[in-house]
Amino acid sequence: SEGDDVLARWSDGLLYLGNVKRVDGVKQCCLVRFEDNSEFWVLRKDIHSAAGVEEVCCICDAPPLKEPLINCLKCRHYHPECHTPTIEPEADSDSWICRQCVFAVATKRGGALKRGRFARLMQFMKLRLPYQLSSLDWDPQHLTNQQQCYCYCAGPGWNLKMLQCGSCGQWFHEACTQCLTKPLLYGDFYQFQCSVCTKGPETIQRLPMTVDLAHLVLYHLSLCCKRKYFDFDHEILSFTNENWDSLLLGLSDTPRQDRCHNLLNALNSHKDFVSGKEIKKKKCLFGLQVRYLVEWENVSLY
Ligand SMILES: [Zn+2]
Ligand SMILES: [Zn+2]
Ligand SMILES: [Zn+2]
Ligand SMILES: [Zn+2]
Repeated sequence: SEGDDVLARWSDGLLYLGNVKRVDGVKQCCLVRFEDNSEFWVLRKDIHSAAGVEEVCCICDAPPLKEPLINCLKCRHYHPECHTPTIEPEADSDSWICRQCVFAVATKRGGALKRGRFARLMQFMKLRLPYQLSSLDWDPQHLTNQQQCYCYCAGPGWNLKMLQCGSCGQWFHEACTQCLTKPLLYGDFYQFQCSVCTKGPETIQRLPMTVDLAHLVLYHLSLCCKRKYFDFDHEILSFTNENWDSLLLGLSDTPRQDRCHNLLNALNSHKDFVSGKEIKKKKCLFGLQVRYLVEWENVSLY
């Protein structure tokens, strides 16, 4: 209700501290003022109150009935069956930590914790989603859904720093994944599988293919520099060499001298790219024909 201090999940998957200014019961959302004084409407499902005192389950609002409530060490009370995953009978109320609190600690910009107790708890929680994936209503491109429900955290999207699972099609926040060794670049191409689909740790492979590498580099440069054309030696090749490991996650060991040849070849021969000579500029300039995000399904395998 109004005046409450809350944690609100943002589209990057992270929780931010705020204060409720207004409540819209019809649209099920609240106007939240954040610490930087910005104000945004946030859906109720993405708002978590800091603490609860009443003896009710924070999922279903009911008091303990047949089974006792389990207390999260850090926040509120749950029926074992209301939590995802179901709380084990041997869980004890002095040390058990709920999904929300595990995620609040483990999610990090650039990728979630990989080591320690919270990383292990998070990995376990991620084997099941706290919602029905099949009940979401998607747009035709399968980018956004009406429920604004994504990822393991059920938080909102959508931003460029999300990964799509190649098996189930759901999108996941970079901050909630534990498989990245380097943060994503804008427009990164990859093959990712979520923990629900692998029934274990996530898997990711970036694709060591030159056409797509060239596309990714130009896409990233054009978003960062807000220009269309880039010089091959000074910008494209130097950016590629500097970021070689993060671009390919160490999957490709193409020798440095071959990278230049392969990249130039791709830029000169593939329809995705325009060279400066086509617009009566220097021939060492290259740009993207159309600036779009490479999708795994559309990746050209040559
Ligand atoms: Zn998330
Ligand atoms: Zn309950
Ligand atoms: Zn908790
Ligand atoms: Zn999946």
